[in-house]
Amino acid sequence: MLISDTLIIHADPLSRHAKGEDVISFFGTNPKASLCPIVDEDHRLVGSISRVKFQNRIGKPFGRALIERKPVMDLVDAKSRSVSRQTRLETVFQGLGFEDAHHLQDGFVVVSPDSSYHGLVSGITVLAALNELTSGLVASLKREVEDRKEAERRVRKLAETDPLTGLRNRRAFLRCVDDRIAEETPFACVFVDLDRFKAVNDQYGHAVGDAVLIDTANRLENTNRHYGTARLGGDEFAVLLPLSDESPIETRLEQLFATIISPVDCGEVQVTVGASIGWASYPRQADRPAKLLHAADKAMLRIKARGGGIVQFDPTLDFADLDQSSLETRLREAVFADGLKPAVQPVLDLKSRNIVGHEVLARWPNSGIEPEPSPSAFIPVAERTALIDPLFWSLALQVIEEANSLPGFLALNVSPSQLNSTSFASRMASTIKDYGIQGNRLELEITENVLVRNGDEAVRTLNQLRDLGVRICLDDFGTGYASLSMLTQLPLDKVKIDSSFVLEGLETDINSSAQILEATIALCHRLGFQSCAEGVESESVLRKLEAMGCDLAQGFHIGRPALVSPKAPRLAVLA
Ligand code: C2E
Ligand code: CA
Ligand code: CA
Repeated sequence: MLISDTLIIHADPLSRHAKGEDVISFFGTNPKASLCPIVDEDHRLVGSISRVKFQNRIGKPFGRALIERKPVMDLVDAKSRSVSRQTRLETVFQGLGFEDAHHLQDGFVVVSPDSSYHGLVSGITVLAALNELTSGLVASLKREVEDRKEAERRVRKLAETDPLTGLRNRRAFLRCVDDRIAEETPFACVFVDLDRFKAVNDQYGHAVGDAVLIDTANRLENTNRHYGTARLGGDEFAVLLPLSDESPIETRLEQLFATIISPVDCGEVQVTVGASIGWASYPRQADRPAKLLHAADKAMLRIKARGGGIVQFDPTLDFADLDQSSLETRLREAVFADGLKPAVQPVLDLKSRNIVGHEVLARWPNSGIEPEPSPSAFIPVAERTALIDPLFWSLALQVIEEANSLPGFLALNVSPSQLNSTSFASRMASTIKDYGIQGNRLELEITENVLVRNGDEAVRTLNQLRDLGVRICLDDFGTGYASLSMLTQLPLDKVKIDSSFVLEGLETDINSSAQILEATIALCHRLGFQSCAEGVESESVLRKLEAMGCDLAQGFHIGRPALVSPKAPRLAVLA
């Protein structure tokens, strides 16, 4: 702020020959002046008198009488200060020391560049200027802090945003996962990878490819109640979803899948991409952001290899190399402690519509691994580590003990290596004897792999087993290469037609599959085997199989595999 004329009080100065009484009348006629200026003959400033100090002196007893006649130069304040007209008030302050504080009260005498007297600036004006100066300083400081914050925010946003879609990038996503973990509520970390995206790019160009990515990003972002979305790179995305009972995660993921694969309108063309979705749950499957994302990624890769879809992380399948040895150790302990449990799935006779038997399937309920490992994860491990035979007998004995509560036959899955052992049939013989079960209540499901190594030995064992009354069933028929010749080389009683034929052939009405199915059933009958269809998931399929003359059927529609509970059946027998 410049010392402008509006702030200046233009009061006539006193001559240096004036007396104390002139000072009294000066302050009387200039009530706003806080100083009384004294000049020489050339109108140059020679000093000033402070109103406050002067009033103090004349206020004392006899003060007025003593001062009235005094020469003005005896009253001049040595410390009075003058400022030039060109000076800014702010600068005046900056030059003030602590001991100069009285200037804030008295103000200043304003002089022209040649030191001639010009006017006065009051203490109040000085204080107001100081106030304005400090508040201006504070405001500009505040502004600067805010500007800096805003700039930092913009830089951070740029560094954490995917430029094409505006979603978070990988780094920001990991931070978002961390924030979620801090909330301590369960959630799903979902990894989405588009299928056939490269083909879209190649066929329609990058502009269409970009449009698909942007559209996918929007679809993800518009998902109800998500905790955060991200584009991790290329055609990979991620989203965090709550895990709650009200809307099961499976349903939400199916909706998400359907949303992603619905056509994208790209102006001239409509494009459709597929999706592979893998997910892992916090806190059960992983408890750190990078681990969660890695687990979901691994699951995604597994389902991608199968042509897309949705799958949850399964440590036994997705970390095959990493956790194999700990899986082996746990499996060994479980097998020898009867920790693997038999589940049974009913088999229906299509003519009588009665349950005529059950297939025994291995389950590992208290494995300590989330989710529970499936047989397709641990059976190969058991086969490789010589645990398959102890596993078989553990299940066989547990289920035979409960045989009274399970009507019909009990079909046990047997692995090829077991039939190459000479002791297998003799152990079966002693088991039948020890447990008092009839041999013809037992069935063994084998696969064509029994003939791969030492086929003669296997056939010998199978014949010994049949001599005990045990029936032999060829499992997964139709999936191998030598299936037809197998039917004549093995001593068989039954053939199980693989579920892939039933699911693809009958559910979807593919005529050729249906014809193969019908021919296989007829062939079984000609060779004297019973036919059993696996994977029956609906009544319509059941009716079609019936019409084709199939003997037996198994599948979710008839009954899902259920753990054999040792207590419930015993009570049922007692009752
Ligand atoms: P598998 O012998 O072909 O068993 C049938 C599989 O199909 C079971 O899977 C069963 O749960 C499933 N399944 C039954 N009905 C349906 C249906 O309607 N639809 C569909 N989609 N699937 C159905 P699970 O229990 O996971 O067993 C997988 C495989 O693991 C078995 O295939 C078998 O090869 C092997 N396995 C299971 N338990 C044992 C065992 O104790 N010993 C040996 N060596 N292998 C076993
Ligand atoms: Ca089987
Ligand atoms: Ca099968």
